[in-house]
Amino acid sequence: MNEWKRQTHAIRTQAEASSHKEHSVPMFLTSSFVFDDSEEMRAAFAGDIQRNIYSRFTNPNVAELSEKIRLMEGAEAGHATATGMAAVFATLGALCSAGDHILACRSLFGSTHSILTKILPRWGITHTYVDASDPEGWRQGIQDSTRLIFLETPTNPAVDIIDLEALGQLAAERDVTLVVDNCFATPVLQRPLELGAHISLHSATKYIDGQGRVMGGVVVGSADLIQEIYDFARPTGPALSPFNAWVLSKSVETLELRMEKHSQNAMELAMWLEAHPHADSVRYPFLPSHPQHEIAKRQMSAGGGIVTFRLEGGLEHGKRFMDSVEMCSLTANLGDTRTIVSHPSSTTHAKLTEEERLAVGITPGLIRISVGLEDMSDVTRDIEQALGRAVAP
Ligand SMILES: *Cc1c(COP(=O)(O)O)cnc(C)c1O
Repeated sequence: MNEWKRQTHAIRTQAEASSHKEHSVPMFLTSSFVFDDSEEMRAAFAGDIQRNIYSRFTNPNVAELSEKIRLMEGAEAGHATATGMAAVFATLGALCSAGDHILACRSLFGSTHSILTKILPRWGITHTYVDASDPEGWRQGIQDSTRLIFLETPTNPAVDIIDLEALGQLAAERDVTLVVDNCFATPVLQRPLELGAHISLHSATKYIDGQGRVMGGVVVGSADLIQEIYDFARPTGPALSPFNAWVLSKSVETLELRMEKHSQNAMELAMWLEAHPHADSVRYPFLPSHPQHEIAKRQMSAGGGIVTFRLEGGLEHGKRFMDSVEMCSLTANLGDTRTIVSHPSSTTHAKLTEEERLAVGITPGLIRISVGLEDMSDVTRDIEQALGRAVAP
């Protein structure tokens, strides 16, 4: 079975059917599982036999989802969680202890930044940030107490690309664990474990669901690290609901098709914006003008669905653009079939100081577009009219 190619795993890896032999996997909406006798129950609790006990520990739908992502990323093991943040927190909580240091990319998902700056310091876990665009900074930033390196690539919302192979080599040299938040690229476009990362994790809420319906997270990596993460998650309770797992696992079947189309649409929009007089500094990993274009080409099979640009005129024009959009959605999610526009400096990154925002490339006029799967002529028509109204005198 492990001979299968990635896309076949995405479709054919399935939890066992019930006695009805369903073709589509049923939903195992159950809190617990029944034992035949006391000996079986004892053996299950002791770990002498592998079997489901309680859905906070394991559940067939949840296991099916993590198994698919594990196989698609070529990992030894995986574990699915309630949200992407649960995957991030379980990983950091499991692997770091008081006195440990985390070296992280400055440009991080907002809640990950909050965990590093507000929660982990209370437990004596420190961090320092490195700029995504500073390859030497990683080497210089490692301390004797550095336990792990944490990064996202492409970064959010600046869409910087970090060289995974170089970081994988550095992590091996210095014997630190490399953790990559692979949410923007998905297992279809980028497989960090093949480039030297030890852990790859996802917010399944984004492209893996792909239709803005349910929350979820997945973490995959070496068997010993995932065991530590599981041992942390099992008693602390960030369990994925079987219903969400069922939805997400169905979505994985079409992930490759969707990522190809998201990438194609985003490339088309990026080129269109680059030629537009009111859009500056268009950023998309597969545009030749992207500063890390060569690295992106090496480690990603396509550019993904996120495009950013800057509106001349800054904050006021950014807000006016958002107010002028008619079809595209103003919402906090990304990776949906529906195109989503966001203005990071007044929303997702408003809690940062102006200085912190500028350090990660969030200028007042930065607009992020999560390009959906609509007919692109309708998307560009909407953006065209919004750009016109944003900059009108
Ligand atoms: C959304 C997101 C997360 C958090 O995921 P949730 O499912 O919202 O908890 C983490 N990292 C990145 C890059 C994200 O986009």
